[in-house]
Amino acid sequence: MPENLARYVVSGPAQICFSGGRTSAYMLHQVLCANCGLPRDCFVVFQNTGKEREETLAFVDECARRWSVPVAWIEWTGFIEGRAQRFCTYQLVTFETAARHGEPFAAMARATNMLPNPAARLCTINLKMRASSAYMRAQGFEEWDSVIGIRADEPRRVARMMDPARDNSNGVPVLPLVRANVTKADVLAFWRAQPFDLQLDPMGDLGNCDCCFLKAHHKIVRALVAEPWRADWWIGQESAEHGATFRNDRPPYRDLKREALFYARQIPLALEDTDEAPLVDCFCGD
Ligand code: SF4
Repeated sequence: MPENLARYVVSGPAQICFSGGRTSAYMLHQVLCANCGLPRDCFVVFQNTGKEREETLAFVDECARRWSVPVAWIEWTGFIEGRAQRFCTYQLVTFETAARHGEPFAAMARATNMLPNPAARLCTINLKMRASSAYMRAQGFEEWDSVIGIRADEPRRVARMMDPARDNSNGVPVLPLVRANVTKADVLAFWRAQPFDLQLDPMGDLGNCDCCFLKAHHKIVRALVAEPWRADWWIGQESAEHGATFRNDRPPYRDLKREALFYARQIPLALEDTDEAPLVDCFCGD
């Protein structure tokens, strides 16, 4: 086995976290090559929030079919009452039956009676981390590794994962892409050579939940210029009884949509990149 491929050898029990992006798909491909398929007691898990774009869902499905690898599509369905750590339940879905209107996300917001925000990423914690932990427990494991697609050119995320103070009760992080020194350029080069690809611009910011509150203001507005209707679900969440917004350091989604509609009337589009923080990718385990 080439030395680099050896970095992808994993042993179970482990969940292979597949976010539906190019990076985690590349990692999955390499793991399958290095281990001659999916190793024993390893499970590929995709946690559907209901707010992923159709292109992402199609990509997850196509990877599974082309590479003949089972992918568990899971959706958060509720908390288990009386469990101190807020254990949750989940359901298995498929590409055909997966939620596409934010149902798991909205149900979680109703159950917590609040909205996630950058300081309390309840969506990542519940819809992704805890849901996949529930799945791993259902496979009979109390401890497992979480094989996560974080690259070598993401040092802050690597540091967060490897922080000795990190709570690893949802899986001990294993970062094969870091071991193999893989960068974004490597991932994109891989996908350019493949017969299929994620149908989202590799330089864009349309992955993850469509208008994720972690995306920069101008990037959400730019996406809404093309598809203003995508704001409506987020506006609906901010109009719920709890009265919360996803962020208190910028306007609510209703205003972002209004801004987008204003720009949509301007030709050419006058949105410039700013120094605002780039999207923090949302991976289970992050
Ligand atoms: S992509 Fe954003 S909105 Fe979606 S689960 Fe992750 S942090 Fe939450």
